[in-house]
Amino acid sequence: MQTLAEHYDLHTHSVHSDGTTTVQEIAYGIHQAGLKGFALTDHDTCAGWGEARQAAAVYGLDFLPGVELTTKHGDIPVHLLGYGFNPENSELAAKLAGLRKARKNRIQKMVAKLAQDYPLSATNFTEIKGAIGRPHIADALIKLGVVKDREEAFNTLLSSRSKYYVPNEYLTTASAIKLVQRAGGVAVLAHPAASRNRKILDRQQLYTLTAAGLQGIELHHPENNLAYFAAISKAASGLELLVTGSSDYHGAGKPNFLGQCTTTAATVQKIRELAVMPR
Ligand code: AMP
Ligand code: FE
Ligand code: FE
Ligand code: ZN
Repeated sequence: MQTLAEHYDLHTHSVHSDGTTTVQEIAYGIHQAGLKGFALTDHDTCAGWGEARQAAAVYGLDFLPGVELTTKHGDIPVHLLGYGFNPENSELAAKLAGLRKARKNRIQKMVAKLAQDYPLSATNFTEIKGAIGRPHIADALIKLGVVKDREEAFNTLLSSRSKYYVPNEYLTTASAIKLVQRAGGVAVLAHPAASRNRKILDRQQLYTLTAAGLQGIELHHPENNLAYFAAISKAASGLELLVTGSSDYHGAGKPNFLGQCTTTAATVQKIRELAVMPR
């Protein structure tokens, strides 16, 4: 039997995007959970990689660098994890910088709409240096006592059906996969069976994305909807995708805890063998 000491948590968010804990706190939590290592996958940024390598060394952990990209395949929203790419690849670095800028504009627009009815202003967000997103607006609304937690904010004022909603900029899933690959990384489909996906990819769509270069699928995730899980596992079978599991930790922003779902060391080894920046 394998122990957690041979497992990794391959999907975590820090204060460099919409997590509430520092990279150092994540590394400590991974150590406390008894895991072998972790990946940092902040949205649209590699800003935490250096800190993560240092913190991993402090606790004798193995670190795999990563990122999470917001994409769409047709009308289906898809999150894509990219691991082990060269962060200095000019095409990818420029794209990430553009996405972070678009995030800022989009959040400013949502805040301007909300400010008509709630005492929020752009100045509430000036101290946020990382990749900004709706969770940061949620946190400001919690502070004001408008909602009790991020979950309530996402179910109400920040929902895509809300009058305050402004869509985010996104890449097509296939172009994001190719972008990650051209920068020497490994592309893995994030939380394909999460309830919030509302619509899941079918076998033909998974086949198309695999043909575009998709190499893995995060089948084990705390937010899995059991009905979706059965369908997506079946659709992915036979495509020889690497199967990963992760917590999608966001600190206090979500109930997900470090090590809640994990990936085997053997799978991480395979990802490493495919990646240009394996650590
Ligand atoms: P955005 O990228 O700005 O559209 O915001 C999406 C982010 O919000 C994702 O990274 C999720 O992790 C987070 N999120 C989505 N739904 C919820 C929820 N119900 N509770 C907490 N965080 C959520
Ligand atoms: Fe997030
Ligand atoms: Fe995600
Ligand atoms: Zn995530």
